[in-house]
Amino acid sequence: MPKAQETVLEIDLKALKQNFEHLKSKLNKSTKFLAVVKAFGYGSDAVEIANYLQKLGADYFAVAYANEGVELRKAGITSPILVLHPIPANFKTIIEYCLEPNLYNAKVLKEFIASATQEKLNDYPVHIKFNTGLNRLGFGENDLNFIVSELKQTNAITVTSLFSHLAASEDLNEKEFTKNQIESFKAIAKTFINALGYKPMLHICNTSGILNYPEAHFDMVRSGIGMYGFGNSDKENKHLVPIASLKTIISQIHTIEKGESVGYNRAFVSDGSYKTATLPIGHADGIGRQYGNGKGFVIINETRAPIMGNVCMDMIMVNITNIDCKEGDEVIIFNSGLTAEHLAQSANTISYELITGISQRVKRIFLQ
Ligand SMILES: *Cc1c(COP(=O)(O)O)cnc(C)c1O
Repeated sequence: MPKAQETVLEIDLKALKQNFEHLKSKLNKSTKFLAVVKAFGYGSDAVEIANYLQKLGADYFAVAYANEGVELRKAGITSPILVLHPIPANFKTIIEYCLEPNLYNAKVLKEFIASATQEKLNDYPVHIKFNTGLNRLGFGENDLNFIVSELKQTNAITVTSLFSHLAASEDLNEKEFTKNQIESFKAIAKTFINALGYKPMLHICNTSGILNYPEAHFDMVRSGIGMYGFGNSDKENKHLVPIASLKTIISQIHTIEKGESVGYNRAFVSDGSYKTATLPIGHADGIGRQYGNGKGFVIINETRAPIMGNVCMDMIMVNITNIDCKEGDEVIIFNSGLTAEHLAQSANTISYELITGISQRVKRIFLQ
């Protein structure tokens, strides 16, 4: 691997392939794989990831918002794309770019039928979501009759899938709750399919659902974090490889003496003699202020260098007092060895937040 010469996020497509194949190996041949590439492919690069996964044989893609789907279409992604959180103001765009909306309440269902009718569409693919315990998006069981009666009055749309989302699939202490969600979903699906008269695909599992609830894979699974290399447990992490490495360099080294301070608001005041390194990465790049003041750290020469003082917008300063290094040397923020999950834990957050927060200012490099 070439040494970093500036701040870069390296994306290892071989690792992506390995994770994809590992997750696929958990599924029956007939179970479809929906790749979740929302939020710039969890902070990596949605277009590059989707293109690669399309070649590897992912069946479906999902994004959170319509504009993310538009970017994929413009880049030539032809597979079906589910929009997990469509908003009525974007229905025209959704239809124009052949994106498939999740319809999750009466308002979006009615408004989407109206948009599809206005565009004189027939059998436009939509997905109906039921809330089984997350209490985020989704119809309730009591809405079944309403949905079916709306659907029977139109041929503008057709239900491609029925789905739900698990609230705690990674937490084995919540096994009973999760199993209840799965049972409610089954019951809802059964009633719905009987009333509708045809059988849409069913899906409920995210990554941890795939790994922990093989009995609930149904017709399709939706994986995000697992493809990017995190399995939400030490056991599962052994089989996955984080695809993104965040690297930077040392811009400047200072020696500071007792009583001097480092950074804004003099948050670090020296009690002795220290060597500090200034790095070209800050909170505008996704290293939030919560990593400052000794919580977060970077790796220089295989040694941990804690962040000193407050994180600045464009820079951080780290303690290199006991590290043999010089200006221009490579610095690892996270990689497949010292993972984003480790760094995230140092500031009491999770890998999802750290990786999706790496801003677009950071250059992406792809390793084939
Ligand atoms: C983000 C998301 C997923 C992917 O979850 P992971 O834990 O990253 O695998 C699946 N389904 C829905 C509805 C989501 O919002």
